[in-house]
Amino acid sequence: MSTFKTLDDITVSNKKILVRVDLNVPLKNGVVADSTRIEKVLPTITELSDKGAKVILLAHLGRPNGKDESLSLKPIADSIQKILADKRVTFAADCIGETAQHAVDALQQGDILLLENVRFYPQEEKNDPAFTAQLAALGDIYVNDAFSAAHRAHSSTEGLAKVLPCAAGRLMQAELEALEHALTTPERPVMAIVGGAKISTKLDLLHNLVSKVDILAIGGGMANTFLYAQGVNVGKSLCEKDAAETARAILQEAAAQNCTILLPTDVVAADGFAANSPSEVYDLQSVPEGRMILDMGDASIAAWCNALETAKTVVWNGPVGAFELEPFDKGTLALAAKIVALTKAGKILSVAGGGDTIAALVKAQSLDKLSYVSTAGGAFLEWLEGKKLAGVAALMGDRG
Ligand code: AMP
Repeated sequence: MSTFKTLDDITVSNKKILVRVDLNVPLKNGVVADSTRIEKVLPTITELSDKGAKVILLAHLGRPNGKDESLSLKPIADSIQKILADKRVTFAADCIGETAQHAVDALQQGDILLLENVRFYPQEEKNDPAFTAQLAALGDIYVNDAFSAAHRAHSSTEGLAKVLPCAAGRLMQAELEALEHALTTPERPVMAIVGGAKISTKLDLLHNLVSKVDILAIGGGMANTFLYAQGVNVGKSLCEKDAAETARAILQEAAAQNCTILLPTDVVAADGFAANSPSEVYDLQSVPEGRMILDMGDASIAAWCNALETAKTVVWNGPVGAFELEPFDKGTLALAAKIVALTKAGKILSVAGGGDTIAALVKAQSLDKLSYVSTAGGAFLEWLEGKKLAGVAALMGDRG
């Protein structure tokens, strides 16, 4: 298992706990428009508060260029107060210095304080040691609950872990444990499904997965490039012809690593990229010159579902067709249904995330039916690419 500490390993009562959270929520007319991200960090906040800690929240909002009132966290503090009506939630208009210190000094056990947007200081993103020290001066312990920002080596995501005792929050812990079970110490066979538009944006991910998984199913627009690289005429499909060589190299690498590659064996091709565009199912030899592949065919769906039956662990990133356009969502919805059924039956551990995957799972009404769905976006993708996440490495005591 991992070597990071969790809330179970630290004593927090009457301690000032600096908690890095992801509160990068959409605001509309100065009010929180979607509180999903707030809800995700509530378990950590309430646990610390209930244990008698003084909870000091650190977060960013957007990409301010210096101080920018439109990106103030004040509305988010109001929203947290509304959700946690029985707690005292305060806000400090600065994240360092006297204003922040006064707000910290006023905290009673169980209180929650949200400090202003850490990105109002450019030093945050520079991981500036003096800025980190100013943040650190406000607390006794650092808890990182922002996996989604863990690929960034910033003061509040990485620097603090090096200067204060640290632990993972509950959301970070859940994310790390799920990812570890999916790829680091998985039950085999592991099957990964990778879809999405382009191979060029997922090269690192494909290289990493062929070395880690037993079956790699490649769908969506990027499958067209692989098919083209194998001599299939893909008509006017989205296809990165100049990446054909790379696609062949990935196929060779997979063979050398004993990773079975699955590509569609039949496809749905339509007149154009539009909902209900006239379409038919074709085998790979007969895609018409004037049509574009927008989904996988029934035979491919059946073959991939059979492969899923053999897996113990499934990792999914990217829709396997133009899922926004009916009826070209069929492959994506069918795979989602199969993964949900196998997960429900206790036959597989399923982890999904990254980019449009969440939107596809929402469409399939499956978001809460997999073992774990990561909402961490870029951090999840970097993890799938096999990259070391700075914030996670720091939590694990890697002083690298
Ligand atoms: P990504 O952001 O890389 O995960 O790509 C997601 C996008 O890929 C979605 O907007 C899909 O509509 C698109 N996509 C999936 N399959 C195809 C396809 N066969 N042709 C064109 N676009 C596709």
